[in-house]
Amino acid sequence: MAEIRIENLNKKFGDFVALKDSSFTVEDGEFLALLGPSGCGKTTTLRMIAGLELPTAGRILLDGEDVTFNRARDRDIAFVFQLFALYPHMNVRRNIGFPLLAQGVSRSEIKRQVEATARLLQIDHILEKPVSGLAGGDRQRVALGRAIVRRPKCFLMDEPLGTLDAEFRNVMVRELRELHTRIHATTVYVTHDQLEAMAMADKIAVMNHGVIEQFGTPQEIYDRPASMYVADFIGSPPMNFLAVTSALTKGSRSVAIGAAEVAVPEVVEDLDGGAVALGVRPEHIRFNDSATLRGSVYGVEYLGTTQIVVVETADGFCKARVSAGLRVTRGETVGLDLDTPKLTLFRRQGGKAIR
Ligand code: ATP
Repeated sequence: MAEIRIENLNKKFGDFVALKDSSFTVEDGEFLALLGPSGCGKTTTLRMIAGLELPTAGRILLDGEDVTFNRARDRDIAFVFQLFALYPHMNVRRNIGFPLLAQGVSRSEIKRQVEATARLLQIDHILEKPVSGLAGGDRQRVALGRAIVRRPKCFLMDEPLGTLDAEFRNVMVRELRELHTRIHATTVYVTHDQLEAMAMADKIAVMNHGVIEQFGTPQEIYDRPASMYVADFIGSPPMNFLAVTSALTKGSRSVAIGAAEVAVPEVVEDLDGGAVALGVRPEHIRFNDSATLRGSVYGVEYLGTTQIVVVETADGFCKARVSAGLRVTRGETVGLDLDTPKLTLFRRQGGKAIR
């Protein structure tokens, strides 16, 4: 088991900044997801932790020990890649046992550890089968088995479910989470899929152009996004942003959205002017005839238990998630009640949340 700490880590490729001054700690046994769009620096961060890439500046500590310049093989870390290079001519047993064989572990000990690992992953009934004939999910489990058999201090995973179809992905998300609960190994997991990150991780680092925009629990990131970028990246459909038309000062408890007055959580920061956006998640909007914020129903997407209603306001489109039982007709005028404690205000310039 291990704690991973990165301190002021930077990585440049020539003039290009792939990671800028990033610091975070993954506590012993914690599951961290590095989340962000393609090219934001997730893989580069992971490769530096693994020792496959050297940082331009900053430090990496494993259990308090500075390993920044240690070789990859001296770090006791297992790296699970997206494309599993299983040995196709070997059976499941030999694939899982291979890392132990390479370490010179005795045959009886290899047998014991391979069988314990296979039981953990529920693939003990296919140990003698060649991997070439296995279905995707079983191959994935064999690859996981090979990664966990030598009980490394921590796991680094780079989009390990990237090649699976949606149905299998959901099954594997559950399995990986269960596996984590059972073996409790410190894990850093790279994904661009917010649902995957939300479902599995204890903590999420949301990345944007080489910068960690927010580091926190899935709930903190969802409920209290640090920026418009995070608010937009997490949630489906994402958060709505409405233009605030009144001047905002410290102590404000309401804002104007066009002709409407909307109550907001008290602003505790000193503000220096500039445009402000009001962020509201679709599920925090209720229809109420007497509400002053109004719009007309533009479209409806029925989802079974809920429906997403697209409302055209004076300030553009706004999506509300309401009960599927509610009758809404295209073109009708609706009043929108916003759930005050759940609202977030943002500076338009730079997109940072106002607290
Ligand atoms: P993806 O999911 O596409 O891999 P990512 O968030 O993991 O995205 P990285 O692979 O970390 O992104 O890459 C971050 C940026 O650094 C990209 O713009 C990439 O082109 C650049 N980059 C990565 N490795 C190198 C390299 N060896 N030389 C030059 N540029 C690189």
